[in-house]
Amino acid sequence: MVTVQVGKLIDFVADVFHHAGSSEAEARRIATYLTTANLTGHDSHGVIRVPVYVRWKNMGAVVPDRTVEVVVDTPSLAVVDGRFGYGQTVGPEAVRIGIEKCKAAGLAAVALRNAGHIGRIGDWAEMAAAQGLVSIHFVTAAGSVLVAPYGGVERRLSTAPYCVGIPRVGQGPIVLDFATSIVAEGKVLVASRGGKTLPTGALIGPDGVTSEDPTLLYGPYEPEGPRDHSQGKGAIRAFGEHKGSGLALICELLGGALTGTGATGPDRRFANGMFAIYVDPKRVDPDNFFDGEIARYVAFFRSARPVAGTDAVLIPGEPEARMRAERMKNGVPLPDETWAAIVNTAREVGVGEDGIARATT
Ligand code: NAD
Repeated sequence: MVTVQVGKLIDFVADVFHHAGSSEAEARRIATYLTTANLTGHDSHGVIRVPVYVRWKNMGAVVPDRTVEVVVDTPSLAVVDGRFGYGQTVGPEAVRIGIEKCKAAGLAAVALRNAGHIGRIGDWAEMAAAQGLVSIHFVTAAGSVLVAPYGGVERRLSTAPYCVGIPRVGQGPIVLDFATSIVAEGKVLVASRGGKTLPTGALIGPDGVTSEDPTLLYGPYEPEGPRDHSQGKGAIRAFGEHKGSGLALICELLGGALTGTGATGPDRRFANGMFAIYVDPKRVDPDNFFDGEIARYVAFFRSARPVAGTDAVLIPGEPEARMRAERMKNGVPLPDETWAAIVNTAREVGVGEDGIARATT
């Protein structure tokens, strides 16, 4: 395990993306968002993605320094095309438009189409919450087909995340942010490499039998060898039985079909599509009831007696805030294999040995 201090990790990853063709500003943005995913404990969406992002850039699947094109623009609605730019550039651009419109109109919606990977959706809810806004996000990962719907044994859905952010006075926001699959694919990858095992019934085989065996997703593999999800015959299952599967379908239809990205399918170019709704609670609630009621209800919610083995009932966003505090202080732990892959990518794009050494000294 390698532990890298946050500032050094951002500097190093920014150097990689700058060498890979992004402006300094974009490179730093990508590095900051990826590192934030690690900081919040979502390692599957953190710097582990550096090699694949660079590979996508080399293939032309994602384009450096591309900004959004505004397709529809009304006082309360925008449709913006990310034109396969980095999600860390076109994502915040789209959110900024939503925030501006919402502040002016009280309510706004933004459909973002054809974005490069926009990572952890909670980042976008946190950005809106920092401006005092509630936001709701429906997302497709078009082109990625990994998840079986409830009642089915074949892959038909992406991990289609859903996210809601609610600002609070004097405290971090409530951020509910999850993939609509039982686990994100990154967690199957981790399990396949000997890491944390999958929850019971996370995968389903072509025979309809549920399992926790990663070979269902990747086919047979060598311990150190590559993992290719096109080689497996099984699927990850949608979470929450018929209810979660239904929510995943809605994410595909709103994040994919409504935004113009297209819902997921095997022949699509990879892109995230996000349909986001922004609400200014101050406009809905001129009497200022909301803030106090959130505090009262959250206290009531949290006061439930914890089940054996847990110390407290948490609210969404709390595990991330705790992890962020811990990793800001102690650094981001990265498995040796993950760090080696990032360093290899750094060398490939021409980062010097002194730059690599600086990250860990
Ligand atoms: P997860 O299963 O870890 O669930 C995270 C959510 O559950 C958070 O809101 C968290 O605060 C809450 N939570 C966790 N433990 C809790 C507890 N004990 N009590 C109360 N709340 C708790 O998340 P996931 O499904 O693995 O998704 C990981 C990340 O991957 C998310 O940030 C998601 O946006 C991202 N993602 C992105 C894409 C994409 O295409 N861009 C696709 C899929 C997932």
